[in-house]
Amino acid sequence: MEQHSKCYCSVPFCSNSKRKHPNLSFHDFPKDTRLRGKWIIAIRREESATFTVLRGSTYVCSQHFRPEELYVKEGGSRARLKKGSVPSRFAWNDFGSRHEDRLTPYERASTRLGLNTEAAAGQRDELDDLEAMLTEPNANATEHDYCQVRVLIDCTEVRCETATSLTLQSESFSNYKNHTTFKSLVGVAPCGVITFVSKLYTGSISDQELTRRSNFIRLLQPGDKVMADKGFQIEGMLAEVGGHPHHSPLQEVCAVHQGRC
Ligand SMILES: [Zn+2]
Repeated sequence: MEQHSKCYCSVPFCSNSKRKHPNLSFHDFPKDTRLRGKWIIAIRREESATFTVLRGSTYVCSQHFRPEELYVKEGGSRARLKKGSVPSRFAWNDFGSRHEDRLTPYERASTRLGLNTEAAAGQRDELDDLEAMLTEPNANATEHDYCQVRVLIDCTEVRCETATSLTLQSESFSNYKNHTTFKSLVGVAPCGVITFVSKLYTGSISDQELTRRSNFIRLLQPGDKVMADKGFQIEGMLAEVGGHPHHSPLQEVCAVHQGRC
């Protein structure tokens, strides 16, 4: 049924058609929803107004399947697909030749650095654990003393080239780093997720001024605790925002910092 001359392949960058390539077979998308989904993902398309899978008119040509996935029935002439086959050979992976041997980014980096990947497998597990710890909310955090800590903040600086303009040099010079820098305020939730990154400012800006200009304070809610270094003189700012100096986030910051840090 897929053998009529108007068969076209629906894979991007493939212009095969039955009329031009009579030796290729053209295969309908599977009826099974899950398998059909795998095909659509494999060919890097998405069902939308411009692409709809219709049985009897949307095909994938045999060039995108591995030879072992195709067979010809005894006495038949048309290639058929084995059950469960998924297209895997495309222009973007050199028709399967690149895909087979492709290493994971970790393995590629290990090979480049001359590391023994098997010996480093344990380290990879540790890295996976660390990643999980940083990205998954920590249920225990809510039971901890600092459960009301909304965010931990600090500034970070990146070195930059020295401008020829003396004014810019002066603005970007950081006494702390003894170099010209750009500076940003970064906030991290107790579970490790980065929740705030300000724009970059020139390195001479103080932590206090940067916090003010970044509008970080406006994101806080009454009762939030903020853990910060002693250098962050933001009490007054918090008082201004909250209007209640004794219960403002600023006061909470100091309580947290002095009491438990
Ligand atoms: Zn094709």
